[in-house]
Parts: sequence; C-alpha cells; structure tokens
Amino acid sequence: MKTNNGYFGEFGGIYLPPELKNVLLDLAKEYEKLKKQRKFQHELKELYKNYANRPSLLYLAERLSKEVGCKVYLKREDLNHTGAHKINNVVGQGLLAKHLGKKKVIAETGAGQHGVATATIAAYFGMNCDVYMGARDIEAQKPNVYRMKVLGAKVVPVSQGQGTLKDTIDVAIQGYIKEVEIAYYLLGSTVGPHPYPTMVRDFQKVIGEEIYAHLMKAEGRLPTAIIACVGGGSNATGAFYKFISKESVELVAVEPAGKGRLSGRHGLVLGTGKTGEIHGSRTLVMKNKDGMIKGSYSAASGLDYPGVSPELSMLKGNGRLTLGEATDKEAVNAFVKLSQLEGIIPALESAHAVAYLLKNRSKYKKSDVVVINLSGRGDKDVENVYEKLLRKK
Ligand SMILES: *Cc1c(COP(=O)(O)O)cnc(C)c1O
Repeated sequence: MKTNNGYFGEFGGIYLPPELKNVLLDLAKEYEKLKKQRKFQHELKELYKNYANRPSLLYLAERLSKEVGCKVYLKREDLNHTGAHKINNVVGQGLLAKHLGKKKVIAETGAGQHGVATATIAAYFGMNCDVYMGARDIEAQKPNVYRMKVLGAKVVPVSQGQGTLKDTIDVAIQGYIKEVEIAYYLLGSTVGPHPYPTMVRDFQKVIGEEIYAHLMKAEGRLPTAIIACVGGGSNATGAFYKFISKESVELVAVEPAGKGRLSGRHGLVLGTGKTGEIHGSRTLVMKNKDGMIKGSYSAASGLDYPGVSPELSMLKGNGRLTLGEATDKEAVNAFVKLSQLEGIIPALESAHAVAYLLKNRSKYKKSDVVVINLSGRGDKDVENVYEKLLRKK
C-alpha cells in the first residue's frame, strides 16, 4: 500500500492543473528537506514550548469520569495560545514559510480559529497576511474577525456560492495564484493537495505524543480510547497518529450529524461519503445523487466541510477507526454539561467529542481510560449556545 508521495492508500495526491501541481511538488520537496534538518526541528520545538504554551495539560476530569463511569482525561488543546490546536499547525507552516523566504501568508478560515492562528503567526514572523472568510462566517464569528484585524491581517470576505468554507478555499486559491512568488498558502487542516495532509499531521502529531508520554507516567498504560471531533481531521489525526500502530487503542472519530443523519443536513463525510475529488485531493467527500459535491452542515463552523483528511479516509477503509457522530443538539447539551461538571467551556466543535462519550458511556467500564481531545475553547460559542437554550425556555 502506498503511504508516501502524498498517498494514503488510494487517497491523497495532487489533483490540480499542472502549474499549481508543480508549485506543490516543489513545496513538498522543500518541506521534506527542511523536516530532516535538526535546526528546523529545534526551532519548531521552541515555538511549541515558548509561544504555543506546550505541552498542553492532560487533565483528569473527575466529575465527568464519575458521570460516565470510566476514567476520563481531557487533552487541553483549549489552553494553547489562541485557544485551539490550530496554533500547532501554524507555527510549523509559519516557520516553513520563513525558511522559504516568503513575505506573505494567505489562508482561508471557517470558524475564524485558523484565521486568528494564521494572523497571529504572521504577526510573530513579521509577514503580511490575507485571510479569506465566508460572509456567513464573518457574521457568525465577529470576535474572531476583530482579533484578526487587530493582529494586522486583512480579512477578505467571500460571498461566492454559499459563502461556506468550501467556497472560501476556491477564492483564496485564486488569490494565491496571483502572488505565488512572494506568498505562502497556509492551509488549516489535513485536507487539500499533497503535501498539506502530511505536513499538517506532522505539526499536529505532538498532541498524541504528549498524550502517550503523560499517560505512560500517570497510568503506566495505553488509553482504551481516544475520542476526537473531525472537521478536516487535523486535531483527530494529531491525537491518533502515535497510536495507529497500537491496535488495542480505539480511535474514535466523531463527525457532526448537524440536524440529524436522516435530515441530509450534516457533515458525516467519513460516515456517508464516497470517493471523490475536492480541493486538489482524492478523498472521501459528501455527494448528492448526481455525484456532485454536496454542501455540508454543522452548527459548529469548524466542522462544516464536505471533505476530510485522506489519511482518515484510509484508516476508515482499513477498519482502524470507530466512527461516531453527534447532532447540533447533542453537542450543545454536551457543551453545557462539560462547562457545569468541570468548569471548562469547550469549543462547540470539541463538544461533539464530549457528546459521543456521554451517549456511549455504556461501552466503557470503570477501569477503562478514555482521552477526549479538547480541541479548543468555547468563548467564541457561548453567546450562540446561551441564546439557543434561552429560546427553548
Ligand atoms: C477548526 C477546528 C476543528 C476542526 O478542524 P480539524 O482539522 O478537524 O481539527 C475542531 N475544533 C476546533 C476548536 C477548531 O477550531
């Protein structure tokens, strides 16, 4: 089975016009070279430690453990600088852009979290920054828009199509092509053409490595399960990667069921997708009856993408993943539950992973050790969640 050259089994690769394909092949070559340099790895470690605030805590959630009947740890990616796992990726790609001599970074963003992380790292490295964002998301995520602007980034609104993340990426790539000599395209998840799925996974795998080191010390054992939400797949892949070869560890990928599997309004890409092409990658995608890409939906903008990581697509095919799902409603309930049980307000995205455990608690016994990857913090979602609950009353 091919796992190199940007392929994960039948998935991955570069499905783009020759001009853009050559740019990416060069990038892949440069990255492979830099990755092997001690200096690059040392600088990356320093950025994790002194800028991103790593290692993140692995927190034993005692009241949640009692509630669900097994030992639950939360991997606190919400405590990272900028409030999510996305900083791990941007420090890595920002460092790469610096080594490539780029003066500008271009990014797309859904929930605004990746945009904020990119604007942050652009400020850190003294680079210009354009962040493309869907018009709908700009309205829904105002605080993140303000943060990006304060950080010195230009926020470019995209109203083409449905103004979703998928449309936004199309427009951002057009902007990138115009400035390909001076600009670096900083992709936010384990999606898109090679080398991004590999690169982003490399920069996120620190999550699983830290989980492993911490649990070996604290429990002297591997976890029973690791549960992570899946949008593009970067926090999940980051948490899972170290454990792929450790077959006793259940890897649970939780996707957004939105308004419910049967409503058709969801983002169950691993759960319902077919092989296709999206944004230069061959991977599982959501398709309608005519075989066209179907729009995804989730109340959590960070999970609202009709494609997914080619590596997760392969792992699903291999039977290595447990597929889970949580609806908007279940996620909102889990959001409040975790807040009130532990004093930790999770991102609505991360709340999907919490919801999975709440729903499936009977699967696990008292002696089991379950890790939830808490991909981000929920400040950006509190207002929405609060309003939703109020409206019900
Ligand atoms: C962006 C985001 C996600 C989804 O992206 P992945 O690449 O699937 O990790 C999940 N949680 C948070 C907090 C996010 O910001």
